[in-house]
Amino acid sequence: MFRKIALIIAALIAPLVIHAEHKPPSPPQSLRLYVFNCGSLNISDPERFRFKKEELATTNMSVACFLIVHPKGTLMWDVGAVPDSALKPGEKSALEGYATITETLKSQLEKIGYEPSDIQYLAFSHYHYDHIANANEFGNATWLVRKIERDAMFAAKPPDRVNPANYSALKDSKTVIIPTDDYDVFGDGTVVMKLAPGHTPGHQVLFLKLKKTGPIVLSGDLYHYPEERTMKRVPTFETDQQQTVETREKIEAFLKQSGAQLWIQHDYAANAKLKKAPQFYE
Ligand SMILES: [Zn+2]
Repeated sequence: MFRKIALIIAALIAPLVIHAEHKPPSPPQSLRLYVFNCGSLNISDPERFRFKKEELATTNMSVACFLIVHPKGTLMWDVGAVPDSALKPGEKSALEGYATITETLKSQLEKIGYEPSDIQYLAFSHYHYDHIANANEFGNATWLVRKIERDAMFAAKPPDRVNPANYSALKDSKTVIIPTDDYDVFGDGTVVMKLAPGHTPGHQVLFLKLKKTGPIVLSGDLYHYPEERTMKRVPTFETDQQQTVETREKIEAFLKQSGAQLWIQHDYAANAKLKKAPQFYE
């Protein structure tokens, strides 16, 4: 009898013990950036971006997710277009609308020693569905968000191109409403979110000061196709087109002044060349 009870208790606490054993990697000495493969968008007609097919190198877009590991903590930046749960065991890919994934974000985090619950801060460039798919996995993190963006996400009538079910857990998350255009996440100027509105009202880009790689800016959807930048085309579905034009000018000036490279997150060709986790930029 006692043995049976002991066994039952052991079985009950086993998952807790295993969980308690998990420890995220110890913080690095200097800033690191991991790039994850969060799939691609197969766009047949780029009309919404004011392009004809033949004007573009490819109509496909990459979807990237990023983990920033700072000596003082971790920040997830954008979490994919298709939730991990859509990729069934044994399947090679999962398709939702025109978004495809071939591996889960969770499995890629695991490979570098992290579980979603380890992550300290969560931020999105903006609320569109292709940047927030795995948000519910990061309900333990502190969400860094602009008030105007959060209000739109939880409005009675949410904006177009959002999927509220995929971020419902954030409603009760620990949340920091970002009070300033620039927000220095770890207080040393190496990880700074910069307000870049137009695509959505609280759209932002992320400035990173990496020791070896140098300064970079993760674009969010300031541009999608690299041709938007060179040919100065603005998509049709911005919340404010004129604001996008002004924001682009402001960010281009910042790039010049800071010497930062711009990484266009949806740039299919550029993304293909990036080192993916477990490799990292530092
Ligand atoms: Zn996007």
